[in-house]
Amino acid sequence: MINLADLTYDELADYVKSIGESAFRAGQIFRRIAAGAECLDECTELSKALRERLSSEAEIRLPQIRRKLVSEIDGTVKYLFTLADGNLVETVVMRYRYGLSICVSSQVGCRMGCRFCASTLNGLVRSLTAGEIAGQIIAAQKDMGERIGSVVIMGIGEPFDNYDNFVKFLKIANDPRGLGIGWRHFTVSTCGLADKIERFAGEGMPINLAVSLHAPTDEQRRELMPVAKRFTIAEILSACDIYFEKTGRRVSFEYALAEGKNSDLASAAALVRLLRGRNCHVNLIPVNPVKERNLIRGSRKSVAAFMDYLNNNGINATLRRELGSDINASCGQLRNSEENRKEG
Ligand code: SAH
Repeated sequence: MINLADLTYDELADYVKSIGESAFRAGQIFRRIAAGAECLDECTELSKALRERLSSEAEIRLPQIRRKLVSEIDGTVKYLFTLADGNLVETVVMRYRYGLSICVSSQVGCRMGCRFCASTLNGLVRSLTAGEIAGQIIAAQKDMGERIGSVVIMGIGEPFDNYDNFVKFLKIANDPRGLGIGWRHFTVSTCGLADKIERFAGEGMPINLAVSLHAPTDEQRRELMPVAKRFTIAEILSACDIYFEKTGRRVSFEYALAEGKNSDLASAAALVRLLRGRNCHVNLIPVNPVKERNLIRGSRKSVAAFMDYLNNNGINATLRRELGSDINASCGQLRNSEENRKEG
């Protein structure tokens, strides 16, 4: 069965033409899918005969809400979605002054192995299709009853380890005939697959790029992120330069502070030496304790000292605001606990 939500507008038009219909129908179906239609019968502008004809080989599959947690502190919503094959992914919707922002997953699990991350504990199950990534936005927007204006691809998974579907997802979600989210309203976060960053720079999709750096030297980085054995920081930074040249988008660096690992002032000084003179921004995240990992988050004071050191030395740094701390289960922890429950 074809999942029509997986198709870009052009692919949908080709498909519709291939069964002898006018391409005009593609626009109607594409718009309905973006608005949250869950079956072809909701596409009421199509004739019954056409709906039946389509139903024999195609359907619309949206992620289904399995659990929904709402923060009492700041209204952040966390969804646990079930995919058609029973796999689970997490999606978070945050409310900012300028509107709703969503954090979507790109894979079920992850194979990057970062030492501080819960999503990778049991490895990669599979990559999401383009429609399953877009479907998280569609399903959440429908449930919230309010437009979602910006998207970060920072949930479970490594988007550049699912390159083709990720690019296709962007094409679908950006299309003004559907969700119509502008390029500047997307941010992709990667653990630093330098070859893919370089390739993505040439796609003509000028979205924001965030790189999970987490350490100022290759040696320190290899201790936290196995991917650092494949790409050096120098290779990543040179890919970032190409990205900036081609897209004009400033690159930001994420840095999770873990006590005793990367949060001392010597690390801050090394980070300053590394990034000095670059047009960039550092996003500091006090590490989220994950029970299977024994990492400790620094005290408020040591985090502030690290940030001040960067700012006083010409590196623009901010602390990531923590949202939904009461529904914590951050960074893949909700999916893990639910998988354990299913098994238990
Ligand atoms: N694979 C991508 C996107 C998913 S992770 C990436 O690596 O960027 C999103 C962000 O959360 C990354 O910066 C990741 O390093 C960070 N992260 C993961 N686990 C964390 C934890 N326990 N505490 C703080 N940040 C964490």
